[in-house]
Amino acid sequence: MTAMGFIPPAMPDRAKRVFIRTYGCQMNVYDSERMTDLLAPLGFLPSEAPDDADLVILNTCHIREKAAEKVFSELGKIARLKRKKARRGGHMMIAVAGCVAQAEGEEIMRRAPCVDLVFGPQSYHRLPELIARARRSGGSGILDTSFPAEAKFDYLPQSEAAPGVTAFLTVQEGCDKFCSFCVVPYTRGAEYSRPVGQILAEARRLVGFGVREVTLLGQNVNAYHGAGPGGEEHGLGSLLRRLAELPGLARIRYTTSHPCDVDDELVEAHRSVPQLMPYLHLPVQSGSDRVLAAMNRRYTAADYRRIVERLRSARPDLALSSDFIVGFPGESDQDFQGTLDLVGEIGFAQAFSFKYSARPGTPAASAAGQVPEPVKSERLAALQQLLERQQRAFNEACLGRVLPVLFEKSGRHAGQLVGRSPYLQSVHAVADPCRIGEILPVIITRASSNSLAGSLTEEAAA
Ligand code: SF4
Repeated sequence: MTAMGFIPPAMPDRAKRVFIRTYGCQMNVYDSERMTDLLAPLGFLPSEAPDDADLVILNTCHIREKAAEKVFSELGKIARLKRKKARRGGHMMIAVAGCVAQAEGEEIMRRAPCVDLVFGPQSYHRLPELIARARRSGGSGILDTSFPAEAKFDYLPQSEAAPGVTAFLTVQEGCDKFCSFCVVPYTRGAEYSRPVGQILAEARRLVGFGVREVTLLGQNVNAYHGAGPGGEEHGLGSLLRRLAELPGLARIRYTTSHPCDVDDELVEAHRSVPQLMPYLHLPVQSGSDRVLAAMNRRYTAADYRRIVERLRSARPDLALSSDFIVGFPGESDQDFQGTLDLVGEIGFAQAFSFKYSARPGTPAASAAGQVPEPVKSERLAALQQLLERQQRAFNEACLGRVLPVLFEKSGRHAGQLVGRSPYLQSVHAVADPCRIGEILPVIITRASSNSLAGSLTEEAAA
């Protein structure tokens, strides 16, 4: 008996540890955080390294080249740690989650006997049950890559952990577009939008934890069409308006968008919702109509130009970011020139560009006219040079301006904080750490391709 007459429950000698390695997009980051929430009631604490973990989860991404091979190579290393732990009398459970798990689940079970559990992005809300089944299976492994009928989000626990100044919030998942190069419709399934009320409740809770900026996530986020309280359908523009009404939520962003789903309501939100930041990631992929048609993107280069025009007339300072694929099957020099022309005309503040690489099972993987590697490399270098110049020019145009910066964390240099401008640029400035979470005016004095630096205005520093 303690002095208070209370006998504490027996504690395990050592808390269980889970190590989650996250690959790929922000949605995987969000999913990994939800897995951590699901595992907390089972006594799992997050671990910084896999070495001594009781559970290792690889939350995989299928977008990059040779994604599956990279997972198998990582599994080889984790298997060695598992054997080492077993020699010391311990046990490590290995799970593979995410899009590679969804696409290659059976192959993983076959080639990597060290794996106890494989589950896809639509099954992770069942993680506690899957772990229990894997334990009972006696090492034969559990595979769950179904698309369950129940809405995953209804089964996720509320996070108890304080996420910081900014947070991701998944509002939409899956995709019905079937671009000919992309695996997402096969790995994440059909489009699903969370109900408005559920999103508002999660955003309210995040703000309660001190979050000032929320980034809404979806594979095709502007295809959002969630149900409102009366069952009525809301598009992304309407959802943004409702989120903007939450006191304390200072900034909202969303990603990733499809140009065809930019509707009038969304354009209007860019005009009239001040919390919606003037930065938009709007992938175009190519500037050639022939290539866009082969990609099944459902718009032409002229359509994309028109959409950008509408957005910019609603929000003249809108900074654009985009994705580009060079060397798509059948892409000629002339097609590629179309991409350079479009980039030159539109002007991007940031961009992500890649050489086309085949994703097994997608229509483009077996298309005729695969472009030789050296040609792809040459085109990529030319495109990146242009995009780099634009990004630098965009950042240099900020010199001398005062930008409102949301400070998120301490920088690498003593006394320095790092935050984000409305245009998503990293901004460094000297400020007291107690200012983290505040939006402060910063005079920009230095600019490089990747970041800005400056100092707080006199009033802000006082
Ligand atoms: S819209 Fe995006 S997620 Fe959907 S198929 Fe195309 S590239 Fe993939």
